[in-house]
Amino acid sequence: MTDEIYTDVAIVGGGPACCTAAIQLVRNGIEIKLISDDIGGKIRNANLIENLLGFPKGISGEDYVRILKNQYTEFKIPMIKGIAEEIKTFRERFIIRTAKKKIVCNHTIVGTGSIPIRMGIANEEEAFKKKNLYYENYNARKNVKGKSVLIIGSGDIAYDYAMNLKETANHISIVQRTKRTKSIPILQERVSRQTNISVLTNIVPEKIKFEHKKIILTGRRDDKIIPLMADTILVAIGREPNIGMLSPELLAAYEKEEDIPNIYYIGDVKKGNYRQVSIAMGDGMNAAMEIVKKTTAEEGNYGIRREIW
Ligand SMILES: Cc1cc2nc3c(=O)[nH]c(=O)nc-3n(C[C@H](O)[C@H](O)[C@H](O)COP(=O)(O)OP(=O)(O)OC[C@H]3O[C@@H](n4cnc5c(N)ncnc54)[C@H](O)[C@@H]3O)c2cc1C
Repeated sequence: MTDEIYTDVAIVGGGPACCTAAIQLVRNGIEIKLISDDIGGKIRNANLIENLLGFPKGISGEDYVRILKNQYTEFKIPMIKGIAEEIKTFRERFIIRTAKKKIVCNHTIVGTGSIPIRMGIANEEEAFKKKNLYYENYNARKNVKGKSVLIIGSGDIAYDYAMNLKETANHISIVQRTKRTKSIPILQERVSRQTNISVLTNIVPEKIKFEHKKIILTGRRDDKIIPLMADTILVAIGREPNIGMLSPELLAAYEKEEDIPNIYYIGDVKKGNYRQVSIAMGDGMNAAMEIVKKTTAEEGNYGIRREIW
């Protein structure tokens, strides 16, 4: 039987966006439940975060997540461990379903981040199942010791992944569809200084083949077929909002950017958002403050000039 839980605010996700919202709401005495399978989110993938104030020498994604978890624990945030499989409206409220729980709430904050885009080539799924292919660096890096790795992509994430794996992997090739690199110059410059990272341009991946324990990524450069042999492929060709759990009604409103009262999209899941930790945190804080304002108004405190901080 599914447990039914009532709460004022349900926060779906456990990355920087949702943790910020959760801490601020708890500080304001508002009843919340945070629903997530993890605390920390995608930033654990990052090799070096240099654009977050407070860390003058930068900080690795893993170290940052450790700090975030400590802060989260300090505030004793009530958490329901699991994945929201569905979020839908129910009269003036929302229902969120996980495998074991049904959560009914007045306000919902959705901060489910992004999911990686697939290449859509033959045998990609099979390679993923066989653990020859990954989409997230923190899964890949446990399995690349002494191995040759192909990183597919040309943006910041592809270049950051290469820097992250350079000490562990034997050799890394960044495979780009075009000559143009989308990554920021500072990462390109760092990659260019590494002797075990090469950049292969103008290669369009077409299919994956398996040969003993190795894999061969077949790509095309103009009319030529280029076979690339490796142990592991790491795909970093882009990410899209993680919104598969929204009901058709919520999804339609999300797509049209229509406002449904009392639901907030924060961080990387937000349509058209720039994907950065500080922006995700700002969104989380903003949603929390909106809810604090509404709740205090409902309680009749609004207008008594209750300080909100
Ligand atoms: C390699 C890499 C390097 C990066 N470097 C930087 C950097 O240097 N600086 C910077 O500012 N940003 C960087 N970013 C971007 C940064 O990681 C994101 O902008 C940030 O993590 C967004 O936070 P978020 O809370 O919106 O989402 P996420 O961090 O993606 O968190 C989403 C959360 O939702 C949970 N979740 C997902 N689906 C469900 C569901 N159905 N039900 C319940 N929970 C769910 C996840 O488990 C996770 O806890 C980098 C990203 C990557 C991948």
